[in-house]
Amino acid sequence: MQVIENAIGGKRVVSTSGRKASVYNPATGEQIAELPLSAGGEIDAAIAAAKAAQPEWGNTPPHKRARVMFKFKELLDRHAADLAREISREHGKTHDDALGEVHRGIECVEYACGIPELLKGAFSRNVGPAIDTYSDRQPLGVVAGITPFNFPAMVPMWMYPAAIACGNTFILKPSERDPSAPMLAWDLLMEAGCPDGVLNVVHGDKEAVDHLLDHPDIKAISFVGSTPIAEYVYQRGTRAGKRVQALGGAKNHMVILPDADLDQAADALMGAGFGSAGERCMAISVAVPVGEKTADALIERLRPRVESLKIGPSTDKDAEMGPVVTSMHRDKILGYIDKGVEEGAELVVDGRGFTLQGYEGGYYVGGTLFDRVTPEMTIYKEEIFGPVLSVVRASDYSQAVQMINDHEFGNGTAIFTRDGDAARDFADRIEVGMVGVNVPIPVPVAYHSFGGWKRSLFGDHSIYGPEGVHFYTRLKTVTTRWPAGIKSGAQFTFPTL
Ligand code: NAD
Repeated sequence: MQVIENAIGGKRVVSTSGRKASVYNPATGEQIAELPLSAGGEIDAAIAAAKAAQPEWGNTPPHKRARVMFKFKELLDRHAADLAREISREHGKTHDDALGEVHRGIECVEYACGIPELLKGAFSRNVGPAIDTYSDRQPLGVVAGITPFNFPAMVPMWMYPAAIACGNTFILKPSERDPSAPMLAWDLLMEAGCPDGVLNVVHGDKEAVDHLLDHPDIKAISFVGSTPIAEYVYQRGTRAGKRVQALGGAKNHMVILPDADLDQAADALMGAGFGSAGERCMAISVAVPVGEKTADALIERLRPRVESLKIGPSTDKDAEMGPVVTSMHRDKILGYIDKGVEEGAELVVDGRGFTLQGYEGGYYVGGTLFDRVTPEMTIYKEEIFGPVLSVVRASDYSQAVQMINDHEFGNGTAIFTRDGDAARDFADRIEVGMVGVNVPIPVPVAYHSFGGWKRSLFGDHSIYGPEGVHFYTRLKTVTTRWPAGIKSGAQFTFPTL
């Protein structure tokens, strides 16, 4: 049985905590690895290694830090398929989907390659008599990231490339479900010449997270995961005096106006609703056709496609989606489908009872489509995080907008239409952080930033891109004057220039 190691101070080390969790292959249900649930002392060792490495790394010229990022990017490109295989084996997503994740992660490394330019400050000459002022952004020190299971390579790369390029050192606590891709990425970063202790990886559960949240040497926490934990991490971390960005769950709606190209809309819903078995925080889980005619025509297109979704293990090149991540998560999704039926939604395609021949132990759920879902129903209010698409019929455009604005989550949304005025109005009025116009999954590119509104994000900063650089640095402004410019005599009034 493979034993997952921690990475502390430039070395892979076997945990001695004695507490363990199991890692499974969701396609087969087999246990494939044992993961340590690290104890406080091990987290302390990682923090100490990061703290020891930070002063020298923080003083390394930005272009030299960028050179490590360039080499890291080359190695990631070369090993993209290896990373994708590790992701698929432990997460279950298809190989191409995993490759897509790796490439979106690499884009964040590419952005970090530009760190000398991104950290360039501002200078003003002669702000007063012989006085100059400059501002620049400096690293925070040791920072930490806690990540979810659904993007084991990409989400950590939303965090540590920017954080370390800015001159911080980093502790990563990946998801317990799929630890191998972040460990392979750590190996590649070390091969790229990153000094020991700059990136440390510790595996663990709540105990490890709480230790990071409370530790006085950790200056900032980036968290991505479910909303209840995001809120908890934000509250506990800020109470301990840290800067925290905590990204949470989602319920993303796609509005389909009567003038939309319905074939395109149906294609978009299939990919965005069922890709990665719906385990994406930007998945579309609610379709909102406007008007009965639009709704009927949409259901007519979706039904046969959901019924014939190709489901298989990641090794099946034709599979459109794989299993969900754990048996517990599968049971939770099945429970939501039961609840939808109980609460009166119309089950158009039932994914319960799906099994895959030869993979009977795997955690598969068939594609599921509900019609006539209403905002009072549990399956509308809560994030299911599975291959379940709900159709909520809206009588008009205003009702669709109101419904989205009333929802507790505000991560992503999309509108499908040919009407530029409607699209512009939607982008203006919708209370959601990331909006797509005829784009179902509007995940911003790496040189913009990612973040939801409402209970999809706790904290003042979105993640990666320019907001990432701001999050991992603090501003210092220096005002200078030299003896030749100083008049003698004390000045007791407040200085005006
Ligand atoms: P999760 O909240 O269960 O776990 C996320 C991390 O928190 C893991 O590292 C886990 O070890 C840790 N954790 C779990 N319980 C904890 C506790 N009680 N105390 C402290 N730490 C704890 O999330 P998940 O199931 O791994 O991921 C799926 C969720 O993540 C979904 O809700 C999804 O929407 C969300 N997500 C959000 C985004 C986004 O950008 N907003 C991106 C990806 C995933």
